Amino acid sequence: MAHVAVVAFPFSSHAAVLLSFARALAAAAPAASFSFLSTAGSLAQLRKAAAVPGNLRFVEVPDGAPAAEVPVPRRMEMFMEAAEAGGMKEGLEAARVAAGGDRVSCVVGDAFVWMAAEAAAAVGSSWVPVWTGASSALVAHLRTDALREDVGDKGTCSPSALILTGVGLILHLVIDLRCMPHAPMTSPAASRADELLTSHPGLESYRIRDLPDGVVSGNFNYVINLVLHRMAQRLPLATAAIALSTFPGLDPPSVTAALTAVLPKCLPLGPYHLLAATDTAPDDDPNGCLTWLDLRRPRTVAYVSFGTVAAPRPDELHELAAGLEASGAPFLWSLREEFWPLLPPGFLERTKDTDLVVPWAPQVDVLRHASVGAFVTHAGWASVMESLSSGVPMACRPFFGDQHMNARSVSHVWGFGTAFDGPMTRGGVAEAVASLVGGEEGSRMRARAQELQAKVVKAFEPDGGCSKNLEEFVNIICAP
Ligand code: UDP
Repeated sequence: MAHVAVVAFPFSSHAAVLLSFARALAAAAPAASFSFLSTAGSLAQLRKAAAVPGNLRFVEVPDGAPAAEVPVPRRMEMFMEAAEAGGMKEGLEAARVAAGGDRVSCVVGDAFVWMAAEAAAAVGSSWVPVWTGASSALVAHLRTDALREDVGDKGTCSPSALILTGVGLILHLVIDLRCMPHAPMTSPAASRADELLTSHPGLESYRIRDLPDGVVSGNFNYVINLVLHRMAQRLPLATAAIALSTFPGLDPPSVTAALTAVLPKCLPLGPYHLLAATDTAPDDDPNGCLTWLDLRRPRTVAYVSFGTVAAPRPDELHELAAGLEASGAPFLWSLREEFWPLLPPGFLERTKDTDLVVPWAPQVDVLRHASVGAFVTHAGWASVMESLSSGVPMACRPFFGDQHMNARSVSHVWGFGTAFDGPMTRGGVAEAVASLVGGEEGSRMRARAQELQAKVVKAFEPDGGCSKNLEEFVNIICAP
C-alpha cells in the first residue's frame, strides 16, 4: 500500500493550503495512507479548523524549539535549520512508525521545504513538490540568478550565504513581516524599475519593480529570500512532477513554456481550494458575515482583506477607512482585531449600521456570495484564485513577496482588476471601489472575471484539465 508523506511549511496560510491539498489526495486515493507533517503549533491550529479523512494522520516535525516570543522570521529560520539538520528525516521516521512500520513511499511537500527532497532520497522515495503561488512568480524564482546577472544589486549576497546553516543567518530578526515594505530598490535595479523584463522568457509582462523581494533587490540573506533561492536550485531535481495552483489555459503560453523548460512535469491542478469539497458549517462563520451579506443587494458589497500576514501602516489604514466610507458602497472588512484601535476615531461606531468589520471571514464563501461586487486585497495568490473562481473583480494593494507580480497579473495580464502602485489613498480607494461595483470599467472587469470563472468550472468537470491532472498526480504519488 502506498504511504504518502505530505510536508507543510508551517507559516502564514501555507499549512492550511497544504492540508486541504492533502485531504483532496486522501479522498482521491482511499486505498493509500497519508501522513501530514507539520510542527506541533501548526498542527494544533489545523486540528481546530477541519476534520480529516480516516486515511490521513498528523505527524509532528521539530520546530527548532523557539520560545513563544520569538518573531516570525526567526521562527522560520529555526524551523528550516532544524529541518535541514535532520528534522525532516526524523519526521519521515515518525511517519513510518505512526503508520505501523509502513515505509514512506513518496514525499509530497510544499516546495518551500526543499530539504524534504534529501530526506525523501534517504528513504528511497521521490520528492513531489507542491507550489502554492503563481506560475509567474515561480518563473521569477527559477530565473533568480539570470535576473541578478541582468539587473540585480550584486552587493548583498555572497555564495556562502546561500547555505542555510552556518554563519550569516541571524539577520533581520526583528523585522516585522506584517509591515515589511516592498524592499526599496537601490541602483541598478532602481533606475530601471519601470522597465519590462522583455528579455526574460515568461516575465515579459512584468516590470523590474514587480519582482518578488530578494530576487534582484532587497536583502538576499533574509530568511524567506534564502529559502526561495535554495528552493529554485532544488526544484529541477524533482523530475516526477510538480503541482501548480493554476488551471490549464490561465497562464500565458510563455509562462508555461518557461516553466516546462526547467520542470518537465508541471501539473496545473488548482486553484487548490477547489480540490477538497467543503460545506460551510455554522461554526465557520462565527461573525455572521454570510447572514449579513444575505441582507445586501446583489454585487453591491466591497469585501476587504489583506490575508494572514500583510497589514497597511496606520496612516494608510486611515486612508483606506476613509476611502471605503467615501465610496458609498457597503463594505465587509476582515481586519485582525489588533489593528482595530488604529482605525480613525469613531469609524466603527459610525459605520456599524451599514458595514461590517470582523476579525476573520469565511473568505471563500464570502467571495461566492451574490452580494459581493468587489474585493480590495493584498493579492496573495490564494486570494487571487478565490476571487477569480467566484468571478469577483479586484482592487489590489500589494505589500511584499509575490503580491506585486500577482497584482500585475490581475491588472495587466488577465484584466479583471486594478492595482495601486503604492500606498492607498482615500480618493484612490473610493474611486476603485465605486468603479468596480457600479462603473463601466468595473463591469468590463467583472465580465472578464466571469469568463475566467467559467474556464475554472470547465477545468474541474470530470473530463476537465484539472480533474485529469489530479488523477495523473495521484497515480504518480501512489505508484509502487
Ligand atoms: N482568509 C480567510 N478569511 C480571512 C482572511 C483570509 O479565509 O478573513 C484566507 C483566504 O481565503 C486565503 C488565505 O486566508 O485562503 C490567505 O491566503 P493568501 O495567499 O491570499 O495570502 P497570505 O495570507 O498567504 O498572505
